[in-house]
Amino acid sequence: MILSMRDTQPERRPCGKWPGTGMLGHVDVEPFKPLPESWDRALCIVAHPDDMEFGAAAAVARWTGQGKEVVYCLVTSGEAGIDGMSPDECRVVREAEQVASAEIVGVGLVEFLGLPDGIVEYGVPLRRTLAEVVRRHRPDVVVTSNFRDTWGGRNLNQPDHIAVGRAVVDAVRDAGIRWLFPEQVEAGLEPWGGVRAVWALGSPQSEHAVDITDTFEAGVASLTAHSAYIDGLGWDHFDPREFLEGFSRQAGQRLGVRFAAPFEVLPMGWGD
Ligand SMILES: [Zn+2]
Repeated sequence: MILSMRDTQPERRPCGKWPGTGMLGHVDVEPFKPLPESWDRALCIVAHPDDMEFGAAAAVARWTGQGKEVVYCLVTSGEAGIDGMSPDECRVVREAEQVASAEIVGVGLVEFLGLPDGIVEYGVPLRRTLAEVVRRHRPDVVVTSNFRDTWGGRNLNQPDHIAVGRAVVDAVRDAGIRWLFPEQVEAGLEPWGGVRAVWALGSPQSEHAVDITDTFEAGVASLTAHSAYIDGLGWDHFDPREFLEGFSRQAGQRLGVRFAAPFEVLPMGWGD
């Protein structure tokens, strides 16, 4: 675990994810089950630029390589994430890095909702905003990042991840109910109850995983695209490849492949 004095400054933490801590370090060695791939459209809703790239981008590259459509929705622009850069400047840099990083894994559409980085609040307004996104994109699967209290062990999760993930699960259900947020329906957005599951990347309760062995390099390139952010962290020796290798190898062992991305599955359909 790499923790120095300066890592105690919250603005230098990449969303509470530390290299080398092992998001899955505490769990037993129950084998992972492969995630289903019989779907066409995924919507990835995460709090910050880089959340997809710290583990999920290679899975996205696999899916887009199969011809699936994947869209990114960023709740904030991560504008409070670089200590030495003002939020107005940072927002522009991080949005550009996110768009470039998405393109590397075959994602052509990235939406930014513009909520304030670091202080996203769980509640009805966030559910309303996310239900609108779900109704517009009508995905089969929604991906978000871990929203449990920790990454496993003692490393606390970041509050935006927790707020966004909880709201994603609720908004997916809300989106299917005609009489919730009816102003959206009146404006022409039909309810959408077709989401089969929400998948949360890196959850300590992961029981599934995606084989990313063949798309691992795209995942590394996608994380490397966040260079201003990674430089801004002030870590002397952070290596995107090394970080992703450590994390993905652990999950890979439990799936019986070289590299994998772990996900918690939250079924959204009846009878699952
Ligand atoms: Zn984050």
